[in-house]
Amino acid sequence: MIQVAINGYGTIGKRVADAVRLQPDMEVAGVAKTRPNFEAEAALEKGFDLYAAVEERADQFDEAGLEIAGPVEELVDAADVVVDATPSGIGAKNKSMYEEYDTPALYQGGEDADIVDVSFNARSNYEDATGADHVRVVSCNTTGLSRVIAPLREAYGVEKVRATLVRRGGDPGQTSRGPINDILPNPVTIPSHHGPDVETIFDDLDIDTLGMKVPATLMHMHSLNVTLEEEVDADDVRELFADESRLFQIPAHFDIDGSGKLKEYAMDAGRPRGDIWENCIWEESISTVGTDLYLFQGIHQESDVVPENIDAIRAITGEADAGESIATTDETMGIGL
Ligand code: NAD
Repeated sequence: MIQVAINGYGTIGKRVADAVRLQPDMEVAGVAKTRPNFEAEAALEKGFDLYAAVEERADQFDEAGLEIAGPVEELVDAADVVVDATPSGIGAKNKSMYEEYDTPALYQGGEDADIVDVSFNARSNYEDATGADHVRVVSCNTTGLSRVIAPLREAYGVEKVRATLVRRGGDPGQTSRGPINDILPNPVTIPSHHGPDVETIFDDLDIDTLGMKVPATLMHMHSLNVTLEEEVDADDVRELFADESRLFQIPAHFDIDGSGKLKEYAMDAGRPRGDIWENCIWEESISTVGTDLYLFQGIHQESDVVPENIDAIRAITGEADAGESIATTDETMGIGL
């Protein structure tokens, strides 16, 4: 059993912990938190051992009546892999602790690519992470783009990708984020940082991205144009995508017109927290004009990276190849809408 520590138990960390628990070859060694908030309470209720991420604040847990198993260092020392799901920039600061205890670590997309040996997407470059000590699971947007680009490159070759990312202002729980009533070019400079981030997965890819932020919390939306190396029929692309378990093509008859109904569908399907781990591509939007492919896809920012973290744990420990790991993760989590 791979013992997995989760350092940072927020939006991503709590989802990764639940997904680890579903795996036949992994166990949650414990989760580390900075403060005794509702997520700390929920972690204990789920039976996870709770560790104090910041020594000076450990007393706060006692005062709130929450039992702490020890300091985060103990958890890191005991684990085979640590998943760092702390806010952007904190993972880089934690790196020396993981090195001190000789525990391989996964970081999230908010960290800079240069703090790790490998940036990771299971469908695209799983093998690159085998045996690595520091691996970054790329961001929700980069994950969503990579999952589409990988099969297109293999099947047809990709000359150029152009993507406009309409990004949610914040997650539902991020009450201080915005905009509340505006549409922001964000970042206003072009290309946005997303293109270079996708290039950490495909280093020879030609990609330009533009970003915006809108007053929405549920999902991101990508408008994608991929110039292929050959002319392809839209139906062939639909067939290609149908073989990809983490690409969900929304059938026209579902009458799903946006992220609100997508989340409703996920909740009706009994998905935990209404999560949608798959890219949601509007089947009708898949169109080709000559060598140009166009489509719209919704990306559930809070959850699409969760199965990628699970696969990265197996990649880093060398416990399974890409096909085996993706199949196990998909089956245990119930991926494939
Ligand atoms: P979050 O704020 O929801 O959760 C982070 C958790 O870490 C919080 O519980 C916070 O209290 C805790 N924390 C803060 N400092 C800590 C420390 N020193 N040690 C341990 N825990 C600490 O953030 P999130 O949305 O889960 O993001 C985590 C990472 O995942 C970031 O790199 C982010 O860029 C990336 N990511 C976020 C999303 C998203 O949409 N939420 C999507 C993909 C990737």
